[in-house]
Amino acid sequence: MRQSRHKQQYKMSNIRFEALKNAWSHEPVEVKNPTNRASVIFAQNVFTREKMKEYIARNILEQLFDLMDNEKTLSRDIANSVAIGMKKWAMEQGATHYTHWFQPLTGGTAEKHDAFLSFSEDGAPMEEFSGSVLYQQEPDASSFPSGGIRNTFEARGYSAWDPSSPAFVIGDRLCIPTIFVAYTGEALDYKTPLLRSISAVNKAAVAVANYFDRNVKRVYSYLGWEQEYFLVDEALFAARPDLVMTGRTLMGHYASKSQQLDDHYFGIIPERVLNFMTELEIESMKLGIPVKTRHNEVAPNQFELAPIYEESNLASDHNQLVMSLMEQVARRHHFRVLLHEKPFGGVNGSGKHCNWSLGTNTGVNLLAPGKNPYQNLQFVTFLVNVLMAVQRHNGLLKASIISATNAHRLGANEAPPAIISVFLGTQITEALNQIEHADLDKGIIINAKKEMKLGVGNIPEILLDNTDRNRTSPFAFTGNRFEFRAVGSSANCGAAMLALNAAVAEQLMLFREEVDALIEKGEAKERALFAVIKRLLHECHAIRFDGNGYSDEWKEEARKRGLDCETSAPLIIDNYLSNTSVEMFAKTRVLTKAELLSRCEVKWENYSMKLQIESRVLGDLVINHVLPAAKRYQTMLLQNVLSVKQIFPEDEVGKLNQQDYIIIRQIEEHAAAIIEGVEKMNGARKHANHIENQRERAIAFHDNIVPLMEDIRKHVDDIEMVIDDELWTLPKYREMLFIH
Ligand code: ADP
Ligand code: MG
Repeated sequence: MRQSRHKQQYKMSNIRFEALKNAWSHEPVEVKNPTNRASVIFAQNVFTREKMKEYIARNILEQLFDLMDNEKTLSRDIANSVAIGMKKWAMEQGATHYTHWFQPLTGGTAEKHDAFLSFSEDGAPMEEFSGSVLYQQEPDASSFPSGGIRNTFEARGYSAWDPSSPAFVIGDRLCIPTIFVAYTGEALDYKTPLLRSISAVNKAAVAVANYFDRNVKRVYSYLGWEQEYFLVDEALFAARPDLVMTGRTLMGHYASKSQQLDDHYFGIIPERVLNFMTELEIESMKLGIPVKTRHNEVAPNQFELAPIYEESNLASDHNQLVMSLMEQVARRHHFRVLLHEKPFGGVNGSGKHCNWSLGTNTGVNLLAPGKNPYQNLQFVTFLVNVLMAVQRHNGLLKASIISATNAHRLGANEAPPAIISVFLGTQITEALNQIEHADLDKGIIINAKKEMKLGVGNIPEILLDNTDRNRTSPFAFTGNRFEFRAVGSSANCGAAMLALNAAVAEQLMLFREEVDALIEKGEAKERALFAVIKRLLHECHAIRFDGNGYSDEWKEEARKRGLDCETSAPLIIDNYLSNTSVEMFAKTRVLTKAELLSRCEVKWENYSMKLQIESRVLGDLVINHVLPAAKRYQTMLLQNVLSVKQIFPEDEVGKLNQQDYIIIRQIEEHAAAIIEGVEKMNGARKHANHIENQRERAIAFHDNIVPLMEDIRKHVDDIEMVIDDELWTLPKYREMLFIH
């Protein structure tokens, strides 16, 4: 009697069963006006150029557009006039507050809201928004990481309007995209160096594009991201302290069914999820984000959203916005969105493929094969320069995407390997090989049908074959762009894009210098171009790899080729400080040595903090959930063994208890290993926490704590498999991954 009541109480209080019940009861949430037409709602909440024309005086408008287009800085006069119009528009959209919206190195976005509220001289309340607050603000930013640039006594960092990204209204606030810099001018965010890199690649690419077309005045770097994410029911999420605290499951045995049937990929989107997506798209479109594609991803409960590509600063802002919209909209639909790169072991993680290209003000994509041989020469020029840049800076590019969270993805057999290489496909490779081996004096043979003399007419139109794809490559050419696949789902795109833009800018500068030198010596322009292209093609073989990036042979081969094969995240970060990186960033004026140092400090610190939290949560879960459940089950079995002994004749007891003995021992062994592991982990953590040097501390977390966490997890997952399902308190993988 007493025992059964106890059992009942236990069941009642089992958070897992309550969570499951709630999760199954969540119906699809209806979306308001799901038929909203894009043409009507697009950019409704954005202060677009069209709206500026309506709200800002004509003489100011011209100056404003000029500075938006030409990277000029804002004057206070213009700021005042713009602020008046902006406030009027924002108030009409229901805004009562304004905020500078910036992207600190913590990740995510930051905002501090101020009301328009002010008082006139006679004490009457009014709304005010002056040019000076549009122009520049000083958020009390001492808590944002600066990696030592801004000591707390010199806490001043300020945010300043980035006119190249339009202001927008969300809810009751006017958001002004801003850069965030220290009082002494050093960048404290992702946007500042991204803008500098856009400017650098613009200048360098225009100089090279002018070999082909004098009308090219501006080259834009374009970004089209593909955001992957998981959805989990909020009731189940709440019952998993590890998801709540770290964004990923620190334990959990794989479900019997996961992604092996490939039945989720591109499958029918469940209604509950579709409603979430519909609302997310509506909200995105109102903010001018050109969301285009949605589908199921490979893992169960994994999905993707991709927009039409945009200029990379705007695209990067839009990605940040979409990530925060996802979190908000998911809650309305009783979901939680997981942007972590690896929320679940055993199924695919999430990436954020960054599709990148360069395009001119004349409408030419410099990375697309052209319509005539001359354009193709231009295409090959840019292609080979990108290859060289990626080769020289392959370690840096890896550093730009590494984090404690993305480290779970890289190197595992599902995502890009932890070695950066470029996939080109057979057609492009063949074309490049022909050019590389062509005899400059004889002309180059492109195919059997045509033999051409060297000069303008020498490269045929390169055909595109979109089926020629390789999913294992971290950096793939996909017909008219490069797809940087190693970027993590939770990352700020800016980190990867600024490294890529800057690396390519440096390479294009070198290229221009070399070709100009040949021309000065009297070489004809095309011959000079060909000569340098041939040399670069010969030099950039190391980075080109079309084979299986997951294979062990590739790891061996890559090492021989001199590519960066480091797998430890804290050591990968060192690449920011290599001589080649420091020189490149200085030459392109994207980041100074001091800024690079500070970024590394922040990255190492972030790495350690993430692992510190994970390791604490793992310890707690093991002590509070796993071991009590294991012990309880073990006790039940032990009691059973005793009862069998009391009731059955001695010669039958051994056989009857055999199974129980096995499980009792298994539990004992796993529990002992877990207790030992947790003790070691806690000791190692205490030790690491005392290391002052951020780099050394991150290395300690990587080397000493990660392996212990993995080991503990294995034992926990084994226990999960053997004990009574009813006693297990944490929602299981099969429950979290298959509820829509
Ligand atoms: P896939 O899954 O085949 O890579 P998606 O349609 O999911 O294709 O995503 C393609 C992404 O590439 C989109 O974000 C798209 O805007 C972007 N994209 C297409 N062309 C370019 C380009 N020239 N420059 C940059 N991004 C591009
Ligand atoms: Mg893609």
